[in-house]
Amino acid sequence: MMYWAIGYDEHWNRDIGFDVPAICDHPDCIAAIHRGVDHVCGGEPYGGDSGCGLYFCEAHLESKALDDGAEPTPVCAQCASGKPAFEPTPDTKEWVNYKETSNYWAGWRAYHQNKA
Ligand SMILES: [Zn+2]
Ligand SMILES: [Zn+2]
Repeated sequence: MMYWAIGYDEHWNRDIGFDVPAICDHPDCIAAIHRGVDHVCGGEPYGGDSGCGLYFCEAHLESKALDDGAEPTPVCAQCASGKPAFEPTPDTKEWVNYKETSNYWAGWRAYHQNKA
């Protein structure tokens, strides 16, 4: 299994990984989670074949066998019923502040400024 602390999701344009604090992507939920693989819809980073790749608390992931005889995959309510993904919840303030101030992200900031 892939194991990483911080990565980048090009589809949703945001940081992912178990070091990234976040709020559940369910629109009515404010549960604090992280964007690690335990919380991802689809059971793998970016959502794999069956999930949207958004991140949810335990209450908002259900286990569903998406094919006959397949292992159950954790998915959100939208994917479980074949609907379009939720609007993602914005990054937390802590995370945005951290990225703006931490030395770790200096290279990242320079890279993105050069691209803009
Ligand atoms: Zn989903
Ligand atoms: Zn939730």
